[in-house]
Amino acid sequence: MDAYVFLGMQTEKPYFAIEVPANEENVPKIFTDFGQFLDVRKVGAIIDTNKGELLIYARGITHWHQSQKYCGVCGHPTESRDGGHMRRCINDNCGQQFFPRTDPAIIVLVKYGDKCLLARPPGWKPNGYATIAGFVEPGESLESAVVREVYEETGVRIKSVTYHSSQPWPFPCSIMLGFTAEANGPNIRIDEDEIEDAKWFSHAEIYNGIKDRRLLLPPRLSISYSLIANWYDKSGEVTLAEIIPIDYTW
Ligand SMILES: [Zn+2]
Repeated sequence: MDAYVFLGMQTEKPYFAIEVPANEENVPKIFTDFGQFLDVRKVGAIIDTNKGELLIYARGITHWHQSQKYCGVCGHPTESRDGGHMRRCINDNCGQQFFPRTDPAIIVLVKYGDKCLLARPPGWKPNGYATIAGFVEPGESLESAVVREVYEETGVRIKSVTYHSSQPWPFPCSIMLGFTAEANGPNIRIDEDEIEDAKWFSHAEIYNGIKDRRLLLPPRLSISYSLIANWYDKSGEVTLAEIIPIDYTW
């Protein structure tokens, strides 16, 4: 990276992000004296929220610098400006400016009666299931993206879409927008290019699947888990967090 990025002030201290080579032999000793380099996704659960958000921000913006080294209009190199919050084409006849971007993706828990719809994309563990997710297309509203993704992947038509919560996912540059929705009917037709399986789960099926270790749900910090827990906890006698052992997600 050709510059430091000023991330902002926290408790009157300035914070910066810089990128160092992935090969640790080339890392200046000043950094290795303080500790070791770890994947930010592996430390998310053990650091406090403020530091976690700062690390994710740093990771996201350094990735953006790496991927925006050349002008998409004229092909000349770009250079970092404004403390690393903008890149500008060095060709004076062009001067195009580039700003960090975030790609919206939707993720949705679909309900029908007392059941919820979970799916397994190709390559996941055979007993792993999560909520339906996908990227928003250009010109598409979030609600339309929810309706389209659910129909494309599972053939299920939905009749209402309600916003729930969001989660930044800057690996590389997404934000997951979480919704709940109600299905018109239970019939499932799987798109085998996108998912391997999709099923309706009752509370009892989730409870028993977890107890018998036949069902794996997404990690506790994920928005998919939070959508499933929100649904499960409303009508179950125990909460999802109470029945899932700490070591029991993928
Ligand atoms: Zn240019």
